[in-house]
Amino acid sequence: MTDPAPLKARTLAVQAMGTGDPATKAVVPPVHVSTTYIRDPDNQYRSGYIYGRPDNATVRQAEAVIAALEGAPQALLFGSGVAASTAVVLALDRPTHIVASQIMYWAFRKWLASATRFGHRIDFVDSSDLDAMRAAVKPGETGLVYIETPGNPLWTITDIAAVSEIAHKAGAAVCVDSTVATPVFTRPLSLGADIVMHSASKYLNGHSDVIAGALATAREDDYWSRIQAVRAQHGAILGPFEAWLLLRGLRTLDTRVRAQTESAILLSTWLGKHPAIAQVFYPGRHDHPGHAVAAKQMAGGYGAMLSIRVKGGEQAAIGAAARVQLWKRATSLGGVESLIEHRASVEGPDTPCPADLLRLSVGLEDAEDLYADLDRALRAAN
Ligand SMILES: *Cc1c(COP(=O)(O)O)cnc(C)c1O
Repeated sequence: MTDPAPLKARTLAVQAMGTGDPATKAVVPPVHVSTTYIRDPDNQYRSGYIYGRPDNATVRQAEAVIAALEGAPQALLFGSGVAASTAVVLALDRPTHIVASQIMYWAFRKWLASATRFGHRIDFVDSSDLDAMRAAVKPGETGLVYIETPGNPLWTITDIAAVSEIAHKAGAAVCVDSTVATPVFTRPLSLGADIVMHSASKYLNGHSDVIAGALATAREDDYWSRIQAVRAQHGAILGPFEAWLLLRGLRTLDTRVRAQTESAILLSTWLGKHPAIAQVFYPGRHDHPGHAVAAKQMAGGYGAMLSIRVKGGEQAAIGAAARVQLWKRATSLGGVESLIEHRASVEGPDTPCPADLLRLSVGLEDAEDLYADLDRALRAAN
């Protein structure tokens, strides 16, 4: 008899990999909160658990779902997305040259720029430009290429397969921040990346009530072991309650992300025709510079993040954001509620973000309601 077809990642996630509680037959797993575990009489730890800092059963359950979603042998959860990203750099075994996307999550970009204190050299490059990447990645020198795609807030698309080829030829590892794409639309490991990173605070959890970060690996090699050691040594593991909430959020990831994306497509079309809007940035639009690469690597959808430039400039943009009622004026993304943000105000004076840009995280509300609210806010005079 042939084996049955392997279950789709979506099926595994919905049932949280079948974890429940064998003792009570509950369909929902309990939260494992114990900080310590009983040693066997013969001095062994056969349960596989010793102490809560290196490891936790609820955390492992959520990690198993993320690994399945990314097609990875293993995933690790951290106390935040930034803790996951910094672990990738802190686990490098010697000072090296790092090439990173010019456009990326600003808080991590700032920390990465300061990683020169560990002896690393960092070059921020427009990673959507493959010639620029070929010129920046130096064989024998570059140890890590860190990219974010789609990149905040213009949704800049980097070709993961092409960059992985460039990096691997030079002997460098590739880490992809795939927070915005989600495993629903992109599986970076299948495109050649070595590590995929998520701010699980965003779509993976999806309900704006957990701060968490995830890494998933293409293989359990020395680099991955050092990343595991960094998490344990720095005490950067996610807490069990957060892991449990994340496990619950992951069950609906596929449906949430697809529904939010459908609304984002509608809004990108409607807003593209709006008289008060100068430009719409959405990788699903044919006028987006990264559209062709996105069509190739984002299987089935372009995500639910878009940005708009308001015709009246910075004050008109801030004014429109002040007048929305349904959209929430807040930073972050990927939750069920739609968020609007004047991005330059958050990023500070040296941001590459245009001053008239509003970033939209499209949630699960009705798309017509979302458009009507924005339309009203954009039309009202400043
Ligand atoms: C939010 C975010 C991060 C940082 O994650 P935290 O969970 O807030 O630490 C990293 N990358 C992207 C793309 C993000 O949106």
